[in-house]
Amino acid sequence: MSEETRAPAPTKTHKDYYYILGVKPNATTDEIQDSYNELYEKFGPHIAAHAIEPEVQARTYKDICDAYEVLMDPQKRKDYDKNSEVVRQTSDVRALWGKVTKGKVEQKEKAQNKRTEEFQQVQIQAQALEMEIECTLKEAVKGTRKQIIITDPTPCEDCIEKKPLERMQCDKCRGLGYFNVDRTIELELPSGLYDNMEIRRPGQGRWDLRAGKYGDLIIKIKLKEHPCLRVIDKDIECVVPVTIYEAMLGGEIQIPTATGKVAMKIQPLTQQGRTYRLKGLGLAGNDMRVVIDVVIPKKLTGEEVKLYRRLQQLSEEQNPRHKLFERLQGLS
Ligand SMILES: [Zn+2]
Repeated sequence: MSEETRAPAPTKTHKDYYYILGVKPNATTDEIQDSYNELYEKFGPHIAAHAIEPEVQARTYKDICDAYEVLMDPQKRKDYDKNSEVVRQTSDVRALWGKVTKGKVEQKEKAQNKRTEEFQQVQIQAQALEMEIECTLKEAVKGTRKQIIITDPTPCEDCIEKKPLERMQCDKCRGLGYFNVDRTIELELPSGLYDNMEIRRPGQGRWDLRAGKYGDLIIKIKLKEHPCLRVIDKDIECVVPVTIYEAMLGGEIQIPTATGKVAMKIQPLTQQGRTYRLKGLGLAGNDMRVVIDVVIPKKLTGEEVKLYRRLQQLSEEQNPRHKLFERLQGLS
């Protein structure tokens, strides 16, 4: 079992500024100002450290300021509303919790809160979670299992009934209405993977608070480097050194593959750089390319030199530079 892979952290867009300030999505700037003033009194930097845990206070105060800054600026508020339309629609947090906590709160609210019904008619698409998974070549060819950690936002039930002021002091969610919980899942990845391949698993991603269901999981395969095999698209390439004897006389050689090794024949008089293709030994059924690299000896004994001289005399091979000069003559 390989190491766990952690999904990217939830993005900031989950923060519902209306919820944080405890105002309706259509709140006027006066209402926002009033709410901010009230929260500032309770959580502002002037509050003595002993009143609230300093760390909690700092984080809470930051959320309040972020929300205030955006919602009080008409342009920023417009952008926020546009980019987080879904958040805005569900800003009535009780409607949201109602959906998430299987109608527990929803029923109570339904009669008096028209927004709940409106909310239920809106089919919200759960956000997909994209993550990269690293695989070795062997895993890509054979398939593999991977453990991944997904962080789900989980509604904070301690806060459901509370007012914004009290919510801010919640140890679990510090007024955001949710907190994150890690979940480890085991992914079964099929054989035939390749670099940048995308696999979509419907409903296997992160819990989406606003949609009230799990989003899709989109896995992007990233292949790890291999010490001697190179991936070119879906082919696998290996540069294999052979001796001059093997190149000239042919022979059987062992070559490394993604899953182990395999024996292959090379033809007599195999030239430097010749490429052999091995069917189906690449990625996803593609080929493996074996590129021949002829190694010239680095040392010769006296006996060998004698024999090579003899071979040179016997050779009927034409001077390979002949053609070069032929072409030159054509120029003059
Ligand atoms: Zn809470």
